[in-house]
Amino acid sequence: MDPGFEARLARRKDLVRRRQIVRRRILIGSFAGVLLCVAAFLLFTRDSGNSGGPSSVPAASGNQDGNGGQNPAGSGNSENTARGGAHPDDSWETHTGPVPILMYHVIGPAAGAEDYPGLFLSTEDFRDQVNWLAQNGYTAVTLVQVQNAWYDGGTLPPKPVVLSFDDGYLGQYLFAMPILEKQGWAGQLNLKSEGSDLSSKQVKKMYRAGWEIASHSITHPDLTTLDPSALEHELVGSKQELQKDLGIRIINFCYPAGQYNDEVKAAVEAAGYRGATTVNPGLAEKSMPFELNRVRIDAGDGADALSEKLSALGV
Ligand SMILES: [Zn+2]
Repeated sequence: MDPGFEARLARRKDLVRRRQIVRRRILIGSFAGVLLCVAAFLLFTRDSGNSGGPSSVPAASGNQDGNGGQNPAGSGNSENTARGGAHPDDSWETHTGPVPILMYHVIGPAAGAEDYPGLFLSTEDFRDQVNWLAQNGYTAVTLVQVQNAWYDGGTLPPKPVVLSFDDGYLGQYLFAMPILEKQGWAGQLNLKSEGSDLSSKQVKKMYRAGWEIASHSITHPDLTTLDPSALEHELVGSKQELQKDLGIRIINFCYPAGQYNDEVKAAVEAAGYRGATTVNPGLAEKSMPFELNRVRIDAGDGADALSEKLSALGV
């Protein structure tokens, strides 16, 4: 064989081998790059979902996202664009007057109703009430949206109403949420951070549907009977647990069984909440942020009963 040819062949083989090595390195390199990007993305999303400590998200700062009003904890706002519920339009105006907050408990079949017969409302009655509200010009908003209008110059629809749901019963997710969603509305869920019927996945779905998630303590005790450290634990602990679990900011509180006194009220404010709902009857007023009245909805209340209760309050 021609020695020149042999040398050329050897050089050629060598070149091909080097090119293959280079190509393999590039492939491995880009694969590693993709892996790194995926890992970084996962880390980032996990971090931004969990950064819910009260120190990083002061509850009393303005929330004028006009999007259910409850920003996710942390800096990211992108989640808001997908949230349901009522959104401001041309008909919304500044509003500092009182607002009715309706108080619901169990929606749906009255299983175990013998224990708390007054706390159940059938799905049909609830649907009739929501339809009546819509037909009579009301729009359901969250308490956070009301507070934005009261304190931060935000706007509200002409006849605002808040539908609040206590404790976290399954029917609130299964029945109340879809009925409200049909009107483009969302409610306020006052959630025990432990022992409710609802999973975090279900609560997150409600949040995405525009619901405000508020704290209803950890274990639903009578707060007036607790010593200061136990009281602080129920108030601060529930806020932290819900924020960590859901990755959203918790802004408002609801007194378990409506029990509170001056000490409890001061502790709720000190825990960084912006407002607290009671079971005291009447309209919620701007001047009483930690004693917000509500309109109790009783078992058997249909559209007529709701209409009577609201007109008795002048709204
Ligand atoms: Zn309760």
